[in-house]
Parts: sequence; structure tokens; C-alpha cells
Amino acid sequence: MKAGAIEVAVPLPLQKAFSYLLPAELAGEAHPGLRVRVPFGPRQLIGFILGPSDMDPAKLKPISALVDSDPLLRAADLQLAQRIAQRWFCGVGEVLTAMLPAGVKRGARGRLTTVVHPVLPAAADALADWPSKASTKQRELLRSVLETPAGIPRQTLERNHQVSGSPLETLRKKGLVTFSREHRVEDVFAALEIECSQAPELTPQQRKATDAIAEALRERSARGFLLHGVTGSGKTEVYLDAIGRCLSEGRGAIVMVPEIALTPQTVERFESRFGTVAVLHSHLTDADRARQWRELREGRRRIAIGPRSAVFAPIRDLGLIVIDEEHENTFKQQNAPRYHAREVAQMRAELEGSVVILGSATPSLESWEAARRGDLTLISMRDRVGGGEMPPVSRIDMRSQRPTGPGGLFSPLLANLLRRNLERGEQSLLFLNRRGFRTALRCKDCGYIKRCRDCDVAMTWYRERDHLLCHHCGRSEPTPRQCSECRTGELIFRGVGTEFVESATRRLLPEARVRRIDSETTRGRGAHERLFTEIKRREVDIIIGTQMIAKGLDFPEITLIGVINADSSLGIPDFRAAERTFQLLTQVAGRAGRGARPGQVMVQTYTPEHYALETAARHDYEAFAEAELEYRRSAGYPPFGHLARAVLQGEDEAKVIAAAAKLRQELAPVALENGVGLLGPAPAPLSFIKRLHRHHLVMRCGRQEGLDRLLQRCADCFRSARGVQILVDVDPVAMM
Ligand SMILES: [Zn+2]
Ligand SMILES: [Zn+2]
Repeated sequence: MKAGAIEVAVPLPLQKAFSYLLPAELAGEAHPGLRVRVPFGPRQLIGFILGPSDMDPAKLKPISALVDSDPLLRAADLQLAQRIAQRWFCGVGEVLTAMLPAGVKRGARGRLTTVVHPVLPAAADALADWPSKASTKQRELLRSVLETPAGIPRQTLERNHQVSGSPLETLRKKGLVTFSREHRVEDVFAALEIECSQAPELTPQQRKATDAIAEALRERSARGFLLHGVTGSGKTEVYLDAIGRCLSEGRGAIVMVPEIALTPQTVERFESRFGTVAVLHSHLTDADRARQWRELREGRRRIAIGPRSAVFAPIRDLGLIVIDEEHENTFKQQNAPRYHAREVAQMRAELEGSVVILGSATPSLESWEAARRGDLTLISMRDRVGGGEMPPVSRIDMRSQRPTGPGGLFSPLLANLLRRNLERGEQSLLFLNRRGFRTALRCKDCGYIKRCRDCDVAMTWYRERDHLLCHHCGRSEPTPRQCSECRTGELIFRGVGTEFVESATRRLLPEARVRRIDSETTRGRGAHERLFTEIKRREVDIIIGTQMIAKGLDFPEITLIGVINADSSLGIPDFRAAERTFQLLTQVAGRAGRGARPGQVMVQTYTPEHYALETAARHDYEAFAEAELEYRRSAGYPPFGHLARAVLQGEDEAKVIAAAAKLRQELAPVALENGVGLLGPAPAPLSFIKRLHRHHLVMRCGRQEGLDRLLQRCADCFRSARGVQILVDVDPVAMM
């Protein structure tokens, strides 16, 4: 770059960039996207060079230093970051910072380890001519080394083959392999036995979908598809086909899945087909993620699979972005920058000429409406692969049932079906989206409900560990024996969680083998795998779980699913409550009857007439979407309007209230001018979390621009309030 004034984005929630002087001695090595250290008030910050600035260089402070030798971000990344900052009202520097994994920013390189490489062509020739009976260990080792031309860590190799030292040394002496010392990190998925799999014959329905996508890929046009396929319709094969086409043209792909679905099984499915997959899992170490990032950037791997941040993966010549389960909330980042990966994918596709596939059995209303408007091309897959029927779903009206069994948990109907299924030796699954044994503890005398000291949220009692846990901040306390308010009252337990369901099921059917699957029981290495193996081997009769089991897992033997309480998610004070409920029920129901035997689903509810339950029972997404869109339209909620939420929080509630009232006063005239509806301030549904009092204002507008103007005003007038923080969330997915 030329010496002179340059624009630098610093990692602060400010939309504008700042200008600095690029001195002549650094100019030669400076490029847009490069990180620089700059003075900012009394501090030094690490920012990103955006480009030249038209400010007068004489008035600017010089940058302190260049941080990297090569830019970590490309021009397209800078453009994307600017769009994101504008759309979700956050700082460009914040977005750029979020685009890079922590390990890359810190330059984490992993440990120095010995890596084994094949010597070519000697190694390949030797393997081909290997005497059939001689030293099989050496042969197997050599085969593995040849399969990883980029080199394989010696430790990994020896562990996979359960050998030590000598066979490898012999191979080296024979001149078939060489050793080098490199910075490498353990590949957590390397231990998986990957068998190469072939693409199966596609069904006519899948073929139709892949043909449409193939055409868009050929045209290299930034087209978006909404792949609406019922559970079990084989959406993944459609993704795999599209990825295969991308790779064969030398392009790369990103696959985003919800964090919860990023299991070794999912990864295996992609890896066994293509091999060059980088898995960007949050459980990886920083060094490991940094390595994956570098390999993608260098083009050594061309497919990235991961949760929402994978949308920023540095893929060369990006041909395709797939978002599986696109309706999931986890694609929206909950802290700054609060982007939605689904929209970012579409922005990135536009910049880089890539195809986007959004896949779901229950598309978000945003995507559904976009397809109706023609912004996305809708592909429907209505049939299950192998022709299996969708399981019949029955609603059990709990108002007319006399609950039976321990804790009055089961309707007689569900209890009988469970018993019958057990007698037939078939597997059942019970679903409840609440963890713990009891979800609240109430004083019998004064009615006080035991809440978290820091959060004003009822604490959940876990019987196995005999403690109370706050699901918001993770605080745990010993179980009190008496009411802490009146000091005399006896405590009674209210509300049930999966631990309770487990215990009630064991008492109802003592001979049944019951297993609970939730974040408690799957903690620890291999726990997840052990449970799934047990279920597959049919060593379990009844599975009890939270939404963890509803997501994409395949248990072909399950023939009965019981939803303990379908109303729990309907009661949440959020305009998306019905959508969530429909999605959850559809997903749970999708677990049944995936094998040879038909399944059935029983849903216990006190509001069987609710349209979300009624349409879910008929497997009728379109009818649900129609009813829900009608409601959203009349109320001005997304996808028909934009929403923003300003949450003010602080330790001193009086200050928070005063700041919120002042903000409302400042915003009211701008809101009126721009046709923005302004609601509140009011205490947020979660009004006290982690010792912070929270009040919010909600802004609603048909046009994004109107909202932008209001948010700008919000930022301008808010800098002064002391002891009160403001968080702005544009198009939030949760209103709590
Ligand atoms: Zn009491
Ligand atoms: Zn708490």
C-alpha cells in the first residue's frame, strides 16, 4: 500500500472505521486485511487495515506496528464484514475479529511432533509387490502412510495400528518412509475408522433436487435453494451430491450443522465420501482449529463442516454453502457480533458466486416466505427414502385423562402402549425438553419459590447429585431442607424433568431397561458413543431424552414415541413459541418408524386444539406455515417486519430503569419520523440474570432502513450512561 492515511477497523462496537497514518517504512508490507496495532486513547488495540483513507495524514497518529506478515483476510472478507456490520448493527472490527479462530489470531502452532511421509514412488511400488505372507504389520503401516500423502503423525499411526517403534523403523531403513519434525496437533477424528463409501442410487425425488442444484453450480450463479424435505427423505444425499460436483470442478464447500448435531456420525458421513474435510468443532483446541483453518486456506482441505462460525471458513473458490436444519436458533450468534449465519451465507454467496442450500423438514418462516417471494428456489421432498410412511401422531387430551403411574406423568393410554411395546420387545422413546428431576422447589407455607441468587430464575433440583442448579448461570447449591424465606416452611417439589421421567418409568415398568440421554448422561469421553451402541444393540427398551435426541439421530428400531408435555414450549413469552413447538414435535415424531416396522407417536397435551399441535399431528408443514404467517403478518413480526431489541443491563436497577426511560425519550421522535413501533421499556422476560437487572425496548418496523436510523440514534445517545450496558440485537431469535 502507499504510505499515508489508511482506514483501520478496531474491535469495538462502533460502525465507523478510524484513520491512521501508515508510515513509509511499513508501507511496503501493508495490505488491506492485515492486522495492525494502533493507539486508541490510552490503549493499544489490534485492528484490521480496510484501505486508504481521505483524511489529512498530517493530522493522524501513526500505527504502532504490523501484526502479521501476510493478511489473514481477503478483500471479499472485508466486504462481507462491512455488510454484516451494517445489517446487525455491530462494529466492522468486531466482525473481522470474529471471522478468525482464536488460535489463528494468536498464531497457535501446536506441538512439535514426528510426522511420517511416504517416499514416492518406492513406497507405492513396494506395497504393490509386497510378498503376501511377509511382515503384515509393516504392510498395513505402509498402506496408511500412503493414504495420507500430507504426512501422518507417528503417534497417531502407531496408536491406530497398535504397534510401537520397530516396524516403522524398518520401513525407514528400507527407504520407504521418512520422518520429519512438524508443528502438528492431534486430529480428534483421526481415530475413527473411515471406510470409503460410494454414493447410493438416488431416488427420483433426490435426482430432481440434485439436477436443479447442479444447473446452478454449472452457471456459477449465486442462487439459493430451500430444500424442504420430510424427516427421512434423504436430504444429506442431496448435499453430498452437490459437494461432489463442487469438488470435481476444483471448488470447495461449507456445510453448517447445528452444534448439537455435529457428532462423529455426521462427520463420518461426509469424510467417508470425500476425505478432505476440516471439522471446525467447538471442542477442538485452539491449535487444532488453527491448523484446520490453515489447511483450508492453503487448499489442502476443501470442505469445512462446523457450526455457525464455519460460514467464515477460508475456502478457496467457494462453490457451495449448505445449512442443514436451517431453522435452528443456534445459527444466530447470541453475543456481539450478533449475526445470523443463514443470512451471512447468502451474503457471502453473492460476493463469491456460490450456491446456497438451506435444508429443513420445518423451514424457518423467514426462508419459507423468501421461497414464496421467489428469492429462494423451493425444492420439496415429500417422501421418505425406502417409502416408509410418516408415523401417525395422536394427541392425548390430558384434560379428559386420569393420569396414572408415579407422579401422574402418564395418561393411561400412553402407559398401556409402553407396556405393550415392552412385551413385544420393541423400543420406545419418551421426550421431555427439561432436564433435572424437579424444575422448581416451592415453600408449602409461604409459597416462596427457590430462585438462583444471581438470576431470578427457579432452580432445578437434580436428585442423583442432590443439588439445585441454575440453568442460566450454572450456579449450583446444596438442596435446602427448609424455606429460606420463612425459615420454617416445608419445601415441595414442582414440575418434572427427564430425571423424574426416568424414575417414574422405572417404577411403572420395573422390568424395562431404561436409559436417559441428555447433557448430564452424555458427559465425559465416549459416553455418547456407549449409549448409542447400547441402543443400537437393543440393550435398551425405553429411551428418555431432551431435544438432544430429537436432532438428526437415527434409531431404526423405535416404534413408539411419547411426548410427555407438548405445552411446555408453547407457554414461552416469545412470538416464535408456536414455530418452536411445531419444529420440536416434527423432529421428535421423525424419530419413529424409520426401520421396517411402522411407528406411532403419542403427544400428551392440555391444548390439543392449538394449530401448532394440530398441524404437526398431520405432518402438514404448509398448513402450519400458512397459519403462522397470517399471525406474523397481522402482528408485523418477521418475516414481514424487522425487529430489534435494545437490552439495558446493570447491577443497579434504578440506574437501568432511568437509562431505559431516557433512551425511550430520545428515540420516540426518531421512531415516529421513521415509522418504527417502539415498545417498552419493560423488564425483560428474564429480568435478572447473572446479577444484572435487565430492561428492554423493542423496535419493530416494516423496513430495515427505518430501523437502522433508530439504532444509529440509539448508539449516539447512549455512550454517556454510567454503570449501564446496552446490547442491541437486530432480528433476535430469542426475546428473553
Ligand atoms: Zn416459606
Ligand atoms: Zn443463575
